[in-house]
Amino acid sequence: MSESITLLQEIEHEMRELRHRIHANPELGYQEVETSQLVAERLLKWGYQVTRGLAETAVIGTLKKGTGTRVIGIRADMDALPILEKTGLPYASRIPGKMHACGHDGHTVMLLAAAYALAHDHPFDGTVHLIFQPAEEGLAGARRMIQEGVLKQFPCDAVFAAHNMPGYPTGKLGFRAGPFMASADQVNVTIHGKGGHGAMPHLTVDPVVVCASIIMALQTIVSRNVSPQEMSVITVGAVNAGKASNVIADSAHMLISVRALDNTVRDRLEHQIKQLIHAQAQAFGASAEIDYSADYPLLINDAHMTRFASQVATDWLGPDEVLNDIAPFNGSEDFAYFLQQCPGCYLIIGNGDGEKSCMAHDPRYDFNDEILLRGAGFWVKLTEAFLPLKP
Ligand SMILES: [Zn+2]
Ligand SMILES: [Zn+2]
Repeated sequence: MSESITLLQEIEHEMRELRHRIHANPELGYQEVETSQLVAERLLKWGYQVTRGLAETAVIGTLKKGTGTRVIGIRADMDALPILEKTGLPYASRIPGKMHACGHDGHTVMLLAAAYALAHDHPFDGTVHLIFQPAEEGLAGARRMIQEGVLKQFPCDAVFAAHNMPGYPTGKLGFRAGPFMASADQVNVTIHGKGGHGAMPHLTVDPVVVCASIIMALQTIVSRNVSPQEMSVITVGAVNAGKASNVIADSAHMLISVRALDNTVRDRLEHQIKQLIHAQAQAFGASAEIDYSADYPLLINDAHMTRFASQVATDWLGPDEVLNDIAPFNGSEDFAYFLQQCPGCYLIIGNGDGEKSCMAHDPRYDFNDEILLRGAGFWVKLTEAFLPLKP
């Protein structure tokens, strides 16, 4: 197994330090000013043509070698989360309430390390666009980049991205063709009742009771309206109403998160949720206002590109390091917007599954430095395989 890439080994120490520096200075979506500056400086130094200005803080590094016309795009996300870090690490966040709890610091540095190796060795024939994207966490940086024309300005034959994944063995590369990450929709519900004195409920329409009934009834959509073979999740994540025990509120609010791994199921959920909420509210003499917004789309990996990427991993590392047909995830990912426009593959890199492993978005989460070179090396191997030299 010829895993090591000498150039990457030479810069491993520097790249770990850089990862820690980014980790200590997390920036939220569309505010990745220092992070993108740091990325752009290095890309320029290594001879990349650098484009900035898309989606506030995006950076695109372009490198062309040979005369080939094929183009590959590789994307990394750069944003942190509004979380108070509790890792106790020497390089923990210096900014209270902001934290790299999803490992995007690692994604950024993996792609930078690959950029170094591709610029200094590893001949290929064609063009590589390294896309450093802002605001993956809920703010749809990918959608904004596409709306601002990233794939028109930098057309790609295929696009790829990876996520570090806790709960999977360190460094294993995981692939799945087809639907891989769930769609995410958010429903903002207001129940309008009729407020009044808490001692005289018969003169009111209590929106809290209406909400309680709706919340219980919503559970039956997943259990009774969607096939047990299909994944679907409805979570009422927030309920707000009233301020005092002896006052019946005028209205109540709920925020609901909806996930699916199939667009037909997604449509079905929307229809059932709206119908159920309106009917329930009406049954109690209340009314409902529903703002149903589509967040991230279903992430669908192209079958051919997934097979290609998995084969590159197997040729490089051997079959034991590659997991094929892994189970899809209920989480969502805005790389889905890129995959709506261009064939490609989103893969995972195991972040470790030991006792210390915790979920991403946990205040104790940290990207595993052991997988830095694995991720960077894969991007190098993938680029070489996608843009092969002429025989
Ligand atoms: Zn995340
Ligand atoms: Zn993430």
